[in-house]
Amino acid sequence: MSERSIPTYEVVVIGGGPAGLTTALYTTRLGHRTAVFEKEGGRHTTVDHVHNVLGVSENVSGQELATHAVEQLEHYGGDFYPDAVESVQREGDVGDERRFRLESSHATVTADRIVFATGFRDRSPDVPGLERFTGRGLHYCLHCDAYTLGDGPVFVLGHTESAAHVAMTMCNFTDDVDLLLDGREPEWDDETDTRIRAHPVDRIDTAVVSAYADETIDADEPPWLGGLEFADSVGPNSTGSRTASGDGTERDYLGGFAMYGSVYNADLAADLGCTLRDDGAIAVDENRETSVDGAYAVGDVTHGQNQTTIAIGDGASAGLAIHKDLRPFPKSIADLESRDGDGDDVGDDTRANSDGDGVAGDGLEAPGSDPALRAQMRRVRELKTHPGLRDPSPGRD
Ligand SMILES: Cc1cc2nc3c(=O)[nH]c(=O)nc-3n(C[C@H](O)[C@H](O)[C@H](O)COP(=O)(O)OP(=O)(O)OC[C@H]3O[C@@H](n4cnc5c(N)ncnc54)[C@H](O)[C@@H]3O)c2cc1C
Repeated sequence: MSERSIPTYEVVVIGGGPAGLTTALYTTRLGHRTAVFEKEGGRHTTVDHVHNVLGVSENVSGQELATHAVEQLEHYGGDFYPDAVESVQREGDVGDERRFRLESSHATVTADRIVFATGFRDRSPDVPGLERFTGRGLHYCLHCDAYTLGDGPVFVLGHTESAAHVAMTMCNFTDDVDLLLDGREPEWDDETDTRIRAHPVDRIDTAVVSAYADETIDADEPPWLGGLEFADSVGPNSTGSRTASGDGTERDYLGGFAMYGSVYNADLAADLGCTLRDDGAIAVDENRETSVDGAYAVGDVTHGQNQTTIAIGDGASAGLAIHKDLRPFPKSIADLESRDGDGDDVGDDTRANSDGDGVAGDGLEAPGSDPALRAQMRRVRELKTHPGLRDPSPGRD
């Protein structure tokens, strides 16, 4: 591909989850030529029912939310590439500006600013047959799903500090919490050990060998987790069993959480030279800018806060910061003075006004947004309906 035919963007976002799509929506609607690259997957696609997003029914899935957001992005003039970015390089600076070059499986593009919105991966539990219940009895986010699991038997799988912490926290929701070590040694410290023993949490050391479905769920519904099977008898009952069957190796659960940590998708950022935190997340400042000038990072990949709304908020913050960074107006006094060239006061500009209206800087050119984006702004302005969760919005034609 000749250099001239390589698409150039002001902003390229890597990752089409809630964080990246929000940044892209903001920068597009703030007049910057923007593209999002999304390889299939991401945590939002495993969300069957979105909780805690204001005004969004929990009948909506994470994938549905993202599909609406991509439609919105394209509607306002942003580009969407269903493609995995494979490398990001600093292309060298153009004048005062930064420039990055991104290679994906099927495209090469350049960008003035880039945004890593690549999320993280939860480490799965090593229990045969359990992963198929993700979002339907196997959960990773207490703030999203504790409500669903309240008031019933619940498990927390894991042997680390965070597993112990989640098990103790679940005591706020139910009086029936099992902490399942799955045959491993606990890795929490003495203080946590004292605390966990003092909480009404049953610690079960034996290995978990499989998961079974809830047979009361209709066959035409997606299966929900019914419970877990253990290698040995578990629980404090005199029979050595906690189960109705009496063989002591199964226990029914409403569901539970797997706490084996996460892997941040930060390789591209690390290769570019971005500083990572000790836990592997990308380090960012309050504008969500990384240690590399012009490279930003948003959402789960920066903190593991594990919430759609926080990812959306991050995306918005970065979108605004990038706009302030890229926009040529308003000019500062320093800019105007340097334009003035002779080092005199800005007032010189005022005197030089051709129309004599006394406004400094009249001679500045205002190129506006990219022409294609401006044309799209005009088209959208005429439309009565817009994409989104409701089309049309309630109360409108
Ligand atoms: C089972 C489950 C249920 C949840 N339920 C809720 C809930 O009810 N409410 C809530 O608020 N939160 C919930 N969460 C958390 C929520 O899903 C995340 O916090 C949110 O998705 C984070 O958004 P993100 O954009 O930062 O990351 P992600 O959603 O993970 O998106 C990152 C994207 O980057 C893409 N990507 C990565 N590398 C590349 C690359 N090289 N090139 C192109 N694309 C790339 C991935 O394909 C992915 O789509 C849940 C999480 C899970 C796992």
